[in-house]
Amino acid sequence: MSGKPRMAKSILLATRNPGKLREFQEYLSSLSIEVLPLPADAPEVEETGDTFAENARLKAETIMQRYLVPVLADDSGLEVDVLGGAPGVWSARYAGQQATDEENNAKLLAELYKAEAFPNCTSARFIAVLAFASPGRSTEFVSGTCEGKILASPRGTNGFGYDPLFCLIEMERTLAELTVAEKNRVSHRAKALESLISLPALRNV
Ligand code: IMP
Repeated sequence: MSGKPRMAKSILLATRNPGKLREFQEYLSSLSIEVLPLPADAPEVEETGDTFAENARLKAETIMQRYLVPVLADDSGLEVDVLGGAPGVWSARYAGQQATDEENNAKLLAELYKAEAFPNCTSARFIAVLAFASPGRSTEFVSGTCEGKILASPRGTNGFGYDPLFCLIEMERTLAELTVAEKNRVSHRAKALESLISLPALRNV
């Protein structure tokens, strides 16, 4: 037993993305909600939905049914206007099924060069949809967006995914140049979390 006190509430997060886990843990620990990582024996959930909400539901409900505890799932991605909203729900798999963040970023830049988008036509947004599933209750959804533009070359080493290429217009900084706490004040995920914490269902976990 570690000497660490247990928080009053805990939620299982249905993700294998350590970047997402860090952001949820940091945000919710300040509200005394412990975010538990996915157990090693958790089933793989295929993201077969056409929307962020469908994929978030699939992840939250599959994991909730397996462990019978409250489960939060995040399905998120990047929409680039000049690319017709791509990569969208395909953000994690833009350069192929097992693509790394670096490969996805390289593919994004290649598509933007092909579309002759630099420097002025790179408006984009991150979208996060959270699904919260609890035993015996209907699944609830909240969402958040974060507006910005895509840079021609990466900046910063924090965060994950497309963060080094995604620049906040007013701050003139990429999400990879922010600390977790700073990103948690402006991100799509943080905005969705703001809505999540006002849900009555969350009070009963
Ligand atoms: P998901 O696991 O299907 O929700 O995949 C989300 C993908 O969208 C990630 O793998 C990233 O490529 C991208 N993404 C979502 N949120 C963020 C973020 O906060 N920063 C950078 N990339 C993100």
